[in-house]
Amino acid sequence: MTVVRTRFAPSPTGYLHIGSARTALYCWLYARKMQGTFILRIEDTDLERSTPESVQAIHDAMEWLELSHNEGPFYQTKRFDRYKEVAEKLLEEGKAYRCYCSKERLEKLRNEQIANKEKPRYDGLCRNLTKPGEGSYVIRFRNPDEGVVQFDDLVRGTLTFNNNELDDLIIARSDGAPTYNFTVVVDDSDMQISHVIRGDDHINNTPRQINILRALGVQPPIYAHVSMILGGDGKRLSKRHGAVSVMQYKEDGILPEALLNYLARLGWSHGDQEIFSKAELIEFFDLNHINKAPAAFNLEKLLWLNQHYLKTADPQHVADALAWHMEQLGLDISKGPALVEIVKALCERSKTLREMAEKSSCFYREIEYNDAAVKQHLVPEVLPALTLLHQRFEGLTSWNKEALHQLLASTSEELNLKLGKVAQPLRVAVTGDTMSPPIDVTLELLGRDRTLHRIAAAINLCK
Ligand code: GLU
Repeated sequence: MTVVRTRFAPSPTGYLHIGSARTALYCWLYARKMQGTFILRIEDTDLERSTPESVQAIHDAMEWLELSHNEGPFYQTKRFDRYKEVAEKLLEEGKAYRCYCSKERLEKLRNEQIANKEKPRYDGLCRNLTKPGEGSYVIRFRNPDEGVVQFDDLVRGTLTFNNNELDDLIIARSDGAPTYNFTVVVDDSDMQISHVIRGDDHINNTPRQINILRALGVQPPIYAHVSMILGGDGKRLSKRHGAVSVMQYKEDGILPEALLNYLARLGWSHGDQEIFSKAELIEFFDLNHINKAPAAFNLEKLLWLNQHYLKTADPQHVADALAWHMEQLGLDISKGPALVEIVKALCERSKTLREMAEKSSCFYREIEYNDAAVKQHLVPEVLPALTLLHQRFEGLTSWNKEALHQLLASTSEELNLKLGKVAQPLRVAVTGDTMSPPIDVTLELLGRDRTLHRIAAAINLCK
């Protein structure tokens, strides 16, 4: 059995895109499933575009999603000596060569080729220099002239590229900095990667990378190129379509397990099962059932899954995640009921943790009245009911939803009113608005002191 070693190799040039998170998830799942190794490699060689904040964003997102790596993180910027060493080796063996062509020459060549309707590519002028040229140079890989590069992509099937379509790729720039395709090859080889799972925007790099691997005498890994995630308009998912940063979903109140479940299904399937625990994903995931066709992002479905987890996960676990959102909204959770009770009361009415936190604010701080609700419900006619309730709530021996329900039912009957006619003004009185969990649950969560205090304030408003 092959030893499975996968890697997630993001470039830290911004937030972590959810498409990248899906790639990371597939790499992680496959390694876990095969009892292999999952490696995190930060491809930070683009010094102009890589930032420490983006590196941190990758770590934050991976941590939030709990996609932990077994090896790494490796930073390509710390491996420059190694890339140099390999480039030297290729030079020595004649598999790479120094190219002294000036920018101007290359520019002219390119324009001519375009004018002749040819594909722009380096013409190999420096391939066979007998003595070194003058000035600065880049190092180019000597790509085979003939034949084809063929590989069996686990998603796309057999792919074939003609070598005469491929350029003599620059592997080191004139300042010695290694280029992207070269660092990937050296790393995939040094890190003994068995499966490269990545976005299909890299498909054209693969034959070049395979050629370099072969020149190094290394057996290429197995490739699986995953198609892009699209927006509703069929274009590649981008900011225009809404949130694309993983951490934005955290802020919007999505649970990590919901996002992972969603991303797993977006591009992969196991029969028609929709809900997968992490353990099930590890058990069922395989590279053969990744869809070839690009998938469209569907926020409704993500929200549906999220609510499913809000309702079915251990309430304490949801409460732990909710705590962060309460803090974000400036709500002091020591000033109200245990969060786990909020989760139980609000999970049916909230699609996200954020929504849950927003809906729970009246349990933790002074109410903000909705003017229209006050105008409609806190009117002189409800004074007798509110006054009587205040009195009875004061004397109620046990403050729980059963007792509260009993009391509300008997009081409304006595007043010859339907329960709703009493409950709705009461709800506005104690929450400031017309929407809340069932009134008995709401009162239980508020506690006696808060309830009495708010009814007293509402009585004043009615007058
Ligand atoms: N660093 C590349 C990217 O972020 C990925 C390279 C690879 O997976 O081979 O797109």
